[in-house]
Order: sequence, then C-alpha cells, then structure tokens
Amino acid sequence: SEVPQRVSLTLNNVSFTYPQQTQPALANLNLRVNAGEHVAILGRTGCGKSTLLQLLTRAWDPQTGELLLNEQPISSLDEMTLRRTMSVVPQRVHLFSATLRDNLLLAAPNATDDALSAVLVRTGLEKLLDDGGLNSWLGEGGRQLSGGELRRLAIARALLHDAPLMLLDEPTEGLDATTESQILDLLADVMRDKTVLMVTHRLRGLARFEQIIVMDNGQIIEHGNHAEL
Ligand code: ATP
Ligand code: MG
Repeated sequence: SEVPQRVSLTLNNVSFTYPQQTQPALANLNLRVNAGEHVAILGRTGCGKSTLLQLLTRAWDPQTGELLLNEQPISSLDEMTLRRTMSVVPQRVHLFSATLRDNLLLAAPNATDDALSAVLVRTGLEKLLDDGGLNSWLGEGGRQLSGGELRRLAIARALLHDAPLMLLDEPTEGLDATTESQILDLLADVMRDKTVLMVTHRLRGLARFEQIIVMDNGQIIEHGNHAEL
C-alpha cells in the first residue's frame, strides 16, 4: 500500500502490559495527534514514554484499545508501509559492525554517497569521514562511537529516511549544551511539515510543541499546550 504524505494518530483506550509483568506499562491511554502536530512527552523514568513509542512502531501490540494511523488500525498496515511511514530515533541506538555507509544505508537504501556525506555534515558528524570516509568500519573490530555521536548517527538515519511521522526518544540525551541546541535547531527545521512525537526531559523549547503530555505510571496525568501547563 502507499506511504501517506501526512499522518494523524489516534490512541483509543490503549493498555499494555509487558510479557511476564503484572503492572501495566500503559493504562487507558487516549491521545489524538493531528497531521503536522508536534507532541512533547514528559515524565519521570519508567513511566512508559518509550513504551508508547514502541507500540506505535508495533514492536508490541496492546492487549486492549487501538492505535490508528490516518484513522486505520496500525495492525492493518503492512510492515513495509509502516517502516516507510515513520522515522525512529530510539533511546538505545544500535550500531552495526559494518561500514559507515552501511550503517546509514539501512535507513535509505538508495541514498548516494554524496547524500550520505551531506547528512553527516548536517548532523555534525563529518569527523567520521576523516579515516576511510564512508568505507570506515564501525562497531566491533572498528571505531566505537561516543554516546553523543551515536545519537547524531540516529538523527542522520532519521533525516535520510525522511518519513512523515517522526518518533524521537530523547534525541539530544547526552549531548553538551552547544551541540544540543544545534541538533534541536536542525530538528526544528526537519520537523516543520511532519507529525512528531518527541520524548524529552528538557523544558526549554517546549513552546514549539502544539501538545505537551506528562505521563506517570503508564497514564497521561497532564495534557495541554505550553501556555496551559
Ligand atoms: P526512561 O525515561 O527511563 O527512558 P520510560 O518512561 O521510557 O523511562 P519505559 O521504558 O517505557 O519507561 O518503561 C515503562 C515500564 O515498563 C518500566 O517499569 C520498565 O521497567 C518496564 N519495561 C520496559 N521495557 C520492558 C520489557 N521489555 N519487559 C518488561 N518490562 C519492561
Ligand atoms: Mg525511555
């Protein structure tokens, strides 16, 4: 099926308990996100923020309730369409033991070397090109990346993937203040015409988001915009 240009999301009464657990990670969640809206997700550690994003990628299916993408259950979308519809910056970024090129191409198999280099410059990772360029080996048997470089690599992948829905799990965690504001400026530019859910601990910059939700114990305990909260 076709990849939509614009994405709205609806969560109706979504509850989810991880296998072997008794306490739900998400309980009776309701959320409506219109196409092009940006949503910031806040809340203390363990409250269910990453789980919410994981359910949207269908890493897990909820036991009750439904998740709709453009009014269709995400469970009815084929895997390929779902992948192409969303760009994900996960909380734990995976580095493959492979070349720098292949670590980027998994997000955009048809991207040219020029496009890959351009995105590395854009995300402040041009230093990675110094030894061996796109052929340099990353991961086991090669160069390991710092926490901040890994976050930027994930953002580079998301930029290459260029999907209409972006799910960002603390995209600037572990970055110094200067780099953080560079990345947030970059993201603000990229996010402009996309639907975005961003998990963040950062209170600055929230005025840019149409909706702010605060979670606790798998539930939304506050919901509004910057002026209201
Ligand atoms: P943080 O801010 O620390 O990233 P979070 O809000 O993203 O926290 P989640 O990762 O969504 O929290 O976790 C919600 C709850 O589900 C936590 O109690 C966590 O221990 C539990 N949990 C997360 N992943 C799993 C899993 N794979 N199996 C079982 N329980 C899990
Ligand atoms: Mg998390």
